[in-house]
Amino acid sequence: MTIDINKIRKDFPILEEKIHGKALVYLDNAATTQKPRQVIDKLTEYYYKYNSNIHRGVHYLSNKSTDGNENARAIVQNFIHAKHSHEVIFTSGTTDSVNLVANSFGDRYIGQGDEVIVSEMEHHSNIVPWQLLCERKKAKLKVLPFDDSGELMIEKLDGLITDSTKIIAINHISNSLGTINPIGEIIKIAHARNVRVLVDAAQSIQHKKIDVQELDVDFLVFSGHKIYGPTGIGVLYGKEELLNAMPPWKGGGEMIQEVTFEKTTYNELPFKFEAGTPNYIDAIGLGAAIEYVQSIGLHEIDAYEQELVEYATQKLLTIKGLKIYGTAKEKTSVISFLVDGIHFYDMGMLLDQLGIAVRTGTHCTEPVMQHFKIDGTVRASFSFYNTKEEIDVFYNGILKVCAMFAH
Ligand code: PMP
Repeated sequence: MTIDINKIRKDFPILEEKIHGKALVYLDNAATTQKPRQVIDKLTEYYYKYNSNIHRGVHYLSNKSTDGNENARAIVQNFIHAKHSHEVIFTSGTTDSVNLVANSFGDRYIGQGDEVIVSEMEHHSNIVPWQLLCERKKAKLKVLPFDDSGELMIEKLDGLITDSTKIIAINHISNSLGTINPIGEIIKIAHARNVRVLVDAAQSIQHKKIDVQELDVDFLVFSGHKIYGPTGIGVLYGKEELLNAMPPWKGGGEMIQEVTFEKTTYNELPFKFEAGTPNYIDAIGLGAAIEYVQSIGLHEIDAYEQELVEYATQKLLTIKGLKIYGTAKEKTSVISFLVDGIHFYDMGMLLDQLGIAVRTGTHCTEPVMQHFKIDGTVRASFSFYNTKEEIDVFYNGILKVCAMFAH
């Protein structure tokens, strides 16, 4: 099967919008993806017909919403090939999931003098929760560096690990460089030293097939809104034995078994980690988004997006003074760049006038910018609903901006 781009684009109503009178060229997919009708319709259907708080009701609507939520959990389970559906915890997103692990796993297993390893190319969401933990516990945060092409220096990992290292938190794909990290290899190195691994899949879940059992990953986190689902919903996958051994993080609602003022006991997985009214409608929307992605096929999506990135890279490299940050051999979906003498904000704002949406700034990865001694970049990020014609518009747009700056 190949991508039927015309059919796909019709699924995304927003792609028909005009911006400043120009056809929208949406190249900000790493920040958030647009939503297909199938997802929007599912949300509307539930709000119109079935909405009711889950888990607590005996009535029809409550059962309908509860079933929808649990069905969505099963969809996620199958998508990432988790052994059990209760290993899938719904959170509000990647950031929330990392915070859950940093607080709960961190509380139980990380103490004074222990060590946490992150990489130099992490999103702030996979740095700051660990920094907060390390401050609280007087533990140490260590950093695995990357080289100037944007590839992790894997050869340094084993040397960074000590007997005090408890967890490595690392992204699968960098949101500012596009590097695909060898997470399978990292997990093997870590496990050989008895270290747990959290993989931030915020930028990979929508592009790459992930099998958590095959990878043997301990924790995997991602956001619904980056895989064509709603905002405000995300996933923490964790191995059953780890999640069972971890204390609850937030209290209240469905996470209890029994409450007395003397002692409270906690519910079983996954509910132990889902305090308060869960975001069940968006969980159901996430299920619809994953089904949509599956209906196209991750393999087809990946191959087509790879073609787009390569096409865009070749075109951009012909522009005088343009430098791409992130040139790893294994990369996808993201091109970060600067053009000599043109500030990234100017580039972004002028492209916007042409209907082209790109992101500018540090992309919540300030250490990446510090590595290259720059303040930020322009970032174009691609989805399977983008076309080569849109990349041509983007390329011509950059040329126009360069001409304005007399390049
Ligand atoms: N990690 C990575 C690699 C990301 O790209 C992002 C989003 N830009 C996040 C974490 C945070 O995701 P969210 O804001 O959805 O929690």
